[in-house]
Amino acid sequence: MSIIDKYFRNINRLRISVTDLCNLRCVYCRPESGLDLARHKDILTYEEIVAVVGHAVTLGIKSFRLTGGEPLVRKNIEYLLRMLGNVCGVEDLAITTNGIYLKNYVKTLREIGLFRLNISLDSLDDSKFEKITRGGKLKDVLDGVEEVLNLGFKNTKINIVAMKGVNDDEFGEFAKLTLERDLEVRFIEYMAMNKENLAAEDKYIPMADIIDIIEKNNELVALPSPMLGSGAAKTYKIKGAMGKLGFVSAVSQPFCNSCNRLRLTADGKLRSCLLSGGVVDLKAILRNNPTEEQLTDAFIRAANLKPPVHSGKGHVVMHQVGG
Ligand code: SAM
Repeated sequence: MSIIDKYFRNINRLRISVTDLCNLRCVYCRPESGLDLARHKDILTYEEIVAVVGHAVTLGIKSFRLTGGEPLVRKNIEYLLRMLGNVCGVEDLAITTNGIYLKNYVKTLREIGLFRLNISLDSLDDSKFEKITRGGKLKDVLDGVEEVLNLGFKNTKINIVAMKGVNDDEFGEFAKLTLERDLEVRFIEYMAMNKENLAAEDKYIPMADIIDIIEKNNELVALPSPMLGSGAAKTYKIKGAMGKLGFVSAVSQPFCNSCNRLRLTADGKLRSCLLSGGVVDLKAILRNNPTEEQLTDAFIRAANLKPPVHSGKGHVVMHQVGG
């Protein structure tokens, strides 16, 4: 079986937020304090997440990414990853992390057979990194990235939220990381998550301008897409480089017509879109002895709530939804 939504998109990916907790407070993502966090009993258990994934594969959803909050802060996350790796039909299992705890986990992640990692990293300058993350140590992330490369992970991505006046002076340096490393360095357009308009933020830089900045000092070659895990990104290469560059333009050029994913929030809501669209309370169904039909129905309902295009407005609390 496969899920085709009302707009003929084949839904085959699920992004799973395993916790709304995070060990950083990135300025564009979380307030410094005063968060409205879910209660422990409302967070899906590992067994519940495995049950969701086990059912999702029967519906043709074969690609899964864990996110948060910060997935590596959830206790015994390796236990969940191991179980997910053993679910028959899972073809792609990845994680998005801020990388702070990565170096302690890389070997385990390799053993478990995790396919891919996305690592968020918004500055290569120690003090700027500390400022953006409100206290994170750049070295922790860089050590993690090197260990990931040493252990031979493929398709690793470094995600940079592009911010005018904050890290736009570093785009060239980020791009150069790909010269001799098998990495995809991905620039993500800044989304003003709680404003009337996603671009209504003086830090926003459209994708075309990000590319212009990098092209000033580098010859870029466009790559064919899509490639495994490239999702919504347009990809390029600096001529002769080992790695790639990716550009995610959710604001200037929404890619809704090719959006093939659903999201599961840490508290068990099946969410149709990051920005708009409705949710289905999967946890309520899961905790009420569901039949296979009821679970299938929940996925189909969530898929049919996907809007044709997101509204371009942001009213999202990222740590609750999972980025
Ligand atoms: N803690 C993990 C991490 O840092 O990668 C996973 C969760 S984080 C919310 C996932 C992604 O969302 C990160 O790549 C982050 O940069 C992105 N993100 C959060 N707020 C954003 C915003 N306002 N605009 C663009 N991207 C954002």
